[in-house]
Amino acid sequence: MSQSNRDRLLQIVRWLAVEFPTPFTVVLHCPKKIAADPGDKPSIRLTGYYGYTVRIGRKIHVRIAVRPGINLWIQIDTLLHEWAHATTTRQSKIENARLAHGAHDDEWALAHGRIYRRFYDDEGSEDSKTF
Ligand SMILES: [Zn+2]
Repeated sequence: MSQSNRDRLLQIVRWLAVEFPTPFTVVLHCPKKIAADPGDKPSIRLTGYYGYTVRIGRKIHVRIAVRPGINLWIQIDTLLHEWAHATTTRQSKIENARLAHGAHDDEWALAHGRIYRRFYDDEGSEDSKTF
């Protein structure tokens, strides 16, 4: 039986939680539709945004669009991108709201670089398959 995209993403989330701990618990959601911008209606149209991250209380919610037409590698890249937000989210950062698209500061970029390199250049893709 083949693994669903959602199951693969959950496996990578478990791996990420060990390799790159976050200040708050992360909950993964895999909706078919996401909104292109905060306040927009969730849409099934391809918008260029395949996921987003929001902190609500003491949990970080990561949403990755999972539907036919968005392949697994886009979903994984999106998850690695969003995880960099999750690791750099602090109490002082936006709560109950999506991060602005410009929320990619130096701290985020460094976190993303580390995660990306570990996953793609340092066997993370393979290692995560045992989680
Ligand atoms: Zn982002």
